[in-house]
Amino acid sequence: MKIVKTVAEVRAQVKEWRDEGLSVGLVPTMGYLHEGHGSLVTASAKENNRTVVSVFVNPTQFAPNEDLANYPRDLEKDSAYCEELGADLIFAPEVEEMYHDGNVTFINMTTLTEELCGLSRPIHFKGVCTVVGKLFNIVRPDRAYFGKKDAQQLAIIKRMNEDLNFDVEVIGCPIVREEDGLAKSSRNVYLTPEERKAAVVLSRSVRLGEAMVNNGETDAEKVLAAMRAEIETEPLAEIDYLKAVDGLTMQQVKELKAPALIAMAVRFGKARLLDNFFIEE
Ligand code: AMP
Repeated sequence: MKIVKTVAEVRAQVKEWRDEGLSVGLVPTMGYLHEGHGSLVTASAKENNRTVVSVFVNPTQFAPNEDLANYPRDLEKDSAYCEELGADLIFAPEVEEMYHDGNVTFINMTTLTEELCGLSRPIHFKGVCTVVGKLFNIVRPDRAYFGKKDAQQLAIIKRMNEDLNFDVEVIGCPIVREEDGLAKSSRNVYLTPEERKAAVVLSRSVRLGEAMVNNGETDAEKVLAAMRAEIETEPLAEIDYLKAVDGLTMQQVKELKAPALIAMAVRFGKARLLDNFFIEE
């Protein structure tokens, strides 16, 4: 497995593979990898001849008051983990390599980006779309892998891929959880031991919501009220949002039928954590 830092090196390597007729999968990440990322790498390694993992803490998706400077990083450990899982190339560029001379071109999606996380993080998805668009152009993968933990991000990338004709197969992978149910996240390291214990309430509320839906409840208000009450049993939890939306458009829905999404962002101290479930056919 190679680790490269320049766009030219990625292009040269991918060209070699293409000339041999090999398929290429891409897993975009911000590093500090855990088994959630690992599941994406494993899926890509299984479904493609070659897998590229990008490790880049993308500054354009962080607002000035957010955790860009403190975001955890460990490229050495990430590389060893990717190699173990069968990745072939790590692309770990410096900021200057991705954004020469400052960047004046961005991908700015409307509607889907203005709901849920977009309300408290108004510039976030512009940064995400821009960096993923750049990675799609740099790597030109056949398939790209994203986690359902970031459900809105997944819907946005799928839509961008369609709207801008990137011609990548965008694949959503299931949420990987800790043993007690907490969705794995690089940001879980921000939790104090008390907050870590308290944060289990998110997956508990997801299980409660899922059980109600599986028992036939279709009234979003009722399911959300029960989930909210569950989260509010935990005094350290501060809800940013808890909503039922259409899983494709991110617009709020009253009736829970496929393809709906119930998604939440909840703060525990310095950490803002996500969880969700999709209502599928
Ligand atoms: P990040 O490094 O946080 O930008 O995440 C990179 C990719 O890994 C995104 O597509 C995330 O949705 C995905 N991911 C992060 N955590 C998990 C998880 N617990 N389960 C599945 N996918 C995840």
